[in-house]
Amino acid sequence: MARITFIGLGNMGGPMATNLIKAGNEVTVFDLSKSAVAALVADGATTAESARAAVEGAECVITMLPAGMHVEAVYLGEEGLLEALPAGTLVIDSSTIAPETARKVAEVALAKDLEFIDAPVSGGVGGAKAGTLTFICGGEESTFDKAKPILEGMGKNIFHAGPSGAGQVAKICNNMLLAILMAGTSEALALGAKNGLDPAVLSEIMKQSSGGNWALNVYNPWPGVMDGVPASRDYQGGFLVKLMTKDLGLAFDNAVTNQASIPMGSLARNLFQLHAGQGHGELDFSSIQRLYKPE
Ligand code: NAD
Repeated sequence: MARITFIGLGNMGGPMATNLIKAGNEVTVFDLSKSAVAALVADGATTAESARAAVEGAECVITMLPAGMHVEAVYLGEEGLLEALPAGTLVIDSSTIAPETARKVAEVALAKDLEFIDAPVSGGVGGAKAGTLTFICGGEESTFDKAKPILEGMGKNIFHAGPSGAGQVAKICNNMLLAILMAGTSEALALGAKNGLDPAVLSEIMKQSSGGNWALNVYNPWPGVMDGVPASRDYQGGFLVKLMTKDLGLAFDNAVTNQASIPMGSLARNLFQLHAGQGHGELDFSSIQRLYKPE
């Protein structure tokens, strides 16, 4: 059990903080949204007037924020938390952000004798609620060892990818592949349907054949083929197109910086950007199927 402050209680952070309470930790929360805070207080958390007040007495601080600019603002900004935390505090950022931003925050944290790791997650809102997230961490081995028991309260698979920023790199690679797989699966299903095949039958065939993949196994994008997935509830909830577009932007920027070639990732980025631009940013990312099958 630890005294933990959790900042950023959105679709992911809310259920993650609830699981930390269930795991027996003393949890203080903060979010700009009063209703998000109220939901956690109802689950047993305490709260404070500001992020800075919320971290007083914390052994561990966890953030789950939308993007790099929010992470920089919370840790390095005028009211920056790194300035306020005592040496030795464990700081975990689980937001998906650029590796450079994670390294920048880590450097300032280390200079203040804080222990910082980047720990982005995979597994979506379902995984956050069920406590089965995958954590992909970057930082010192000793900091990872300290963070692991806390992360186990929210996840099942906890990986150490390498030094600071490595968690973000691995996360970006994974999501780029996921976007390519989802777009490719949607394209194959649409081609089959154009030929008069039943998408459910085609899905089963491809699942058992060499085209089998995660989208076909657990997240089929064609409406009505699979129960309980966003495609079967008009693409509501899940992992939003706008967040996938953000992650593909991170992959693209990273490839430019490192002079890497990502032709498939670049195409996927353009497809998701086009889809978002057509007003679908708030839908689940499997709605990319609509680009191939307009409804
Ligand atoms: P979200 O927009 O639902 O939640 C973000 C929360 O941060 C909001 O409640 C917002 O009020 C709060 N916030 C923003 N600025 C703040 C500040 N300065 N101080 C305090 N609170 C602040 O986003 P989400 O879906 O929970 O995603 C969070 C992160 O996790 C993102 O980086 C996302 O890419 C990543 N992620 C999301 C999913 C998913 O399926 N949604 C899956 C894996 C990773």
